[in-house]
This record gives sequence, C-alpha cells and structure tokens, in this order.
Amino acid sequence: MSKTTILTIVGARPQFIKAAAVSRAIRNSADFSEVMIHTGQHFDEMMSDVFFRELEIGRPALNLAIHGGTHGAMTGQMLAGIENCLIERKPDWVLVYGDTNSTLAGALAAAKLHIPVVHVEAGLRSFNRRMPEEVNRVLTDHVSALLFSPTVAGVRNLEAEGITRGVHHVGDVMYDAMLHAQKRSREMSTILADLGLEEDGFVLATVHRAENTDNPARLQAVIDAIATNAGGLPIVLPVHPRTRQAIARSGTKLGAIRAIDPVGYIDMVRLLDGAKLVLTDSGGLQKEAYFARRPCVTLRDETEWIETIEHGWNRLWTTPDWKPRSDIAEYGIGRAAQAVLDAIRAHRG
Ligand code: UDP
Repeated sequence: MSKTTILTIVGARPQFIKAAAVSRAIRNSADFSEVMIHTGQHFDEMMSDVFFRELEIGRPALNLAIHGGTHGAMTGQMLAGIENCLIERKPDWVLVYGDTNSTLAGALAAAKLHIPVVHVEAGLRSFNRRMPEEVNRVLTDHVSALLFSPTVAGVRNLEAEGITRGVHHVGDVMYDAMLHAQKRSREMSTILADLGLEEDGFVLATVHRAENTDNPARLQAVIDAIATNAGGLPIVLPVHPRTRQAIARSGTKLGAIRAIDPVGYIDMVRLLDGAKLVLTDSGGLQKEAYFARRPCVTLRDETEWIETIEHGWNRLWTTPDWKPRSDIAEYGIGRAAQAVLDAIRAHRG
C-alpha cells in the first residue's frame, strides 16, 4: 500500500513547535509520509533554525524565503509559491497550523486545487477582526476539510459559523510538544544559571502582537504593566524581532526589565518551568504557562484561550481579580498529534 502524503506548510515560530509534535507522529507511523514546506516568514537562527535542530524536525524540502512586506504582498507571494509546489508534488492532504499568513496562503492554495486541507488549531476566535490572525483563522477554517480544535470552545465557535463536518476535538498539540521537551529541558538547559535567575524567583515576559508593538504609547503602557505586575522580582524578556525594532523606533523605556534575544524552545520551557509568573501577549505562552502550572497575566484586551481564564490560571491585564484554580481537561493528555493522524486515517477510510 502506498503511503498517504501530507504536505505541511510552516513559516512562523509557533508553527515549528506544533509541527514538531505532529511530524514525530508521522515519522513513527507506517502509512503516512510528510513533505514540509517553509514559507520563510520567520527566517533567522533564533526564530527558525534553532527549532528545527532542537526539536529534530526534518529539513524542509523547500524554503520559499518570503518575509517582510505588507500582509497582502506577503500572503500573495506565498500563495503563488505554495501553489507551484502543490501542482508539482500533488499531496493527498495539505496540513496547516494556527493563524499566520503562511496558514492562510497554504489553505487557500490547496483549496483552490481541490486538495483537502487539515487545519490544526481550528476554531479559535478572539472575535476581534482587526487582528490579522483572526482573519487568517476564520478564512482557513472555512476552506478546511478536517478541523482539529484544541478546545471545546473552538468546536462551539465553528458550530456558530455553520462548520460541523470534519470537526474534531483532539486536545492541544502544543501540550504534546511541551511534555516531550520538559525533561530534556531540565537536563540540557543552562539558561537559569546563565542569566543568574533563581527557581521560582523571576518573571518571564514576552510581547510581540502588532496591537501592542505598533503604537508607541501602547507599547510603553504594556512595558510599564509588566514592571508593575512583577512585584519587584527580576523580569526576563526574550525580545521578538518586531518588538526590538518597535522599541528602538519609539524609544520605549524598559527600566529594570532585562531584554534578551529570543531563546530556543528548550531554554523557553526551562524559563517557563522556573518562572513565578508569566506576562505575555503570546497565544502559545498563555497555555504553556498553564502546562507548567504557572499563573499568567495576558497583555491583551481579549484572549482565544478562555478556559485558562475560566479556570483561574490566567487573567487579562484589564481585570484585577483571580478566581480559584482548577485543572483544564480539554487540552488533552499529550496525545493530540496521534489523534490528528487517527482522524485523517479514518477519513481516508
Ligand atoms: N518561544 C520560544 N522562544 C522565545 C519566545 C517564544 O521558543 O523566545 C515559543 C513559546 O514557548 C511558544 C511559541 O514560541 O511555544 C509561541 O510563539 P509566539 O509567541 O511567537 O506566537 P503565538 O503563540 O502568539 O502565536
């Protein structure tokens, strides 16, 4: 029997981490093979290469090297590049992750060629259409054949938009990825010692959303909120390239915040495990804070990960009160990647 071919599109940091979990499951299967295409959206050592190396993801078959420019220009170039690749390789499925321009371009190129699209991390909604990510997610979900939601809320969101076929609640592949990395990170990472940080004695922060970086007053307010919430503990801020540029451009004052270069995933998991508190506008980090059972303050006015709020592990920076904490069942048990493959197999059936 010939193998079912999955062509995976990745381009941005969180997608490398999600893909690591599913790619591993594909490699361990007898009946699937994968071709990975990197759009080039994130491209340097610390935003891309380090993840492929550390997480043992196979080298992409092709890197389209598309980055920078406006959303339309970037997405358009990706669409054309991915289309060529799909025509040439004729995969059985196209697999996309999350909500970036690479996600939308991959889904759209495949749908137009009648290649079924698998969307991992489907159904997430902020209900804020001014976020480029929200537009990408909504459109991708509407052209997907198989939709894997990490949460029950995601399934309900899809239902509300009339999408019920091909929808599966499988848990979160990021949980699979973190469970896989946690032990290795404790053994291998020296980041706490390198930065002179004590276990449970520092705050981990990240900021990269356009809504926070594009307006200098907002960026300063976010940075000030990090300092206020840290309660005097040292703060470590691995800085996303977009944020570094925005800080330089706007003259944002960091005060006592320690800005460092972005870190690899193994170091990031160690920082998460050791932090007293996480302050972030990242989607991934809000959940990873919960996976590490660290409280989180989200530096946004809304979140897609509402169960972290409902269960009291997370709060928006605009809401002062914390509810009691209870466990979140719906992110799964660390076998979401396997569930994705099982569902594709059943669909092929
Ligand atoms: N991450 C990392 N190094 C960093 C910052 C983030 O490895 O310096 C990881 C983080 O642990 C999470 C993912 O990158 O798994 C989140 O990516 P990002 O915040 O860029 O995107 P989002 O999740 O908001 O889409």
